[in-house]
Amino acid sequence: PGDAILRRQCVRESAARTYARSFPIVPVRAHGMTVEGADGRRYLDCLSGAGTLALGHNHPVVLEAIRRTLDSGAPLHLLDLATAEKDDFTSALFENLPAEFAARARVHFCGPAGTDAVEAALKLMQTATGRSGSLAFTGAYHGMTAGALALTGNVAVKEPLPGGGEVVRLPYPYGYRCPFGVGGETGAQLGATYVERLLDDPSGGVVPPAAMILEAVQGEGGVVPAPDGWLREMRRITAERGIPLIVDEVQTGVGRTGAMWAVEHSGIVPDAMVLSKAIGGSLPLAVVVYCEEYDGWRPGAHTGTFRGNTLAMAAGAATLRYVAAHGLAERAAVAGARMAARLRELATELPAIGDVRGRGLMIGVELVDPAAEPDACGARPADPALAVRVREACLARGLIVELGGRHDAVLRLLPPLTITDEQVAAVLERLADAVAAASR
Ligand code: PMP
Repeated sequence: PGDAILRRQCVRESAARTYARSFPIVPVRAHGMTVEGADGRRYLDCLSGAGTLALGHNHPVVLEAIRRTLDSGAPLHLLDLATAEKDDFTSALFENLPAEFAARARVHFCGPAGTDAVEAALKLMQTATGRSGSLAFTGAYHGMTAGALALTGNVAVKEPLPGGGEVVRLPYPYGYRCPFGVGGETGAQLGATYVERLLDDPSGGVVPPAAMILEAVQGEGGVVPAPDGWLREMRRITAERGIPLIVDEVQTGVGRTGAMWAVEHSGIVPDAMVLSKAIGGSLPLAVVVYCEEYDGWRPGAHTGTFRGNTLAMAAGAATLRYVAAHGLAERAAVAGARMAARLRELATELPAIGDVRGRGLMIGVELVDPAAEPDACGARPADPALAVRVREACLARGLIVELGGRHDAVLRLLPPLTITDEQVAAVLERLADAVAAASR
């Protein structure tokens, strides 16, 4: 039955890249980090729904929260009415936000995907500032919607907005391939100086934007952590110029990077945080949390049918509380450091591994052409064909790993925060074997 399902899905589904094409398996059961295919084979899942499954698949605490909510007779869908489930989720969220942020935070339930929350955050800041453009970064990933509001005819909901506006793209501090030709903190500092000078240059072509949006660790962009000093510089630069700072924690949130939120490493307090993926405890949920001074929306200014689904809120509250109560962010920091250390060791033996980077259990392994000359930063050209071979070799060894990055040559490891020491060892062993086999 597995083969038939796969064949049908590959024909009927759109030709856009789908996971069914990248991972030709038909999962029938999943528990924790393990996924079982229709053919009985078992896989260790390092994709985790692109970072959604903080507690892995079907965690008992999440299932119990969903069952309890179903059995309670609570309405599953109520648009935006106040419910006990929404109240409980909001409490769990606010209890776990950085204290300084939570003290002045408001939450808006968007729905149901990360991209919806990004749109909401930008629109909120456009309303608050009366400006339109935005500052974003090279390698950024914030979603796939193409400005649905632009197509909406209701003038009343469009009228306060000056429109999407121009996006000015700034260099993200990607140390391995730094646009300034130097890696690490030095390259990042040059990047920060560049941003500041550009904004202050009256002929730099930058109209004051509605917001700056960034990821503290880029995910789809190839698992690139920004140095803490650079993040603090972005906070200072935006604060001094009255530019709201939106931090997209869709992928980094809920313990993934070794802290509950990635902003906590640098201590910056954003003006808004965009959250999705893990906050729904495997079900679709997305919110934007923002400082109260930006709450300039009038009633009805931003609505939508599927906002704050009851089951997702129950699953999300259970996940947030479990991560906090069991110290899973700390666990992610320890397990992630162990994985990264072993992968760096491996890089000295396998020249196809050009760079190992990340934070907590968000790890990237950049695959390069070992025969090519390194550039001024010491980086060799990315090798996307090798990356595809490694992904296939991983799958053949029972390991699900996705690719990302500028050239699609970065292996992205996003295991659940509940990964055991034995699973860490098994992932490392299979990965090492796959890279060695694929680069031969
Ligand atoms: N922001 C970030 C940082 C993401 O990683 C993603 C998804 N990978 C999104 C936004 C978009 O989320 P969604 O796919 O749920 O729309």
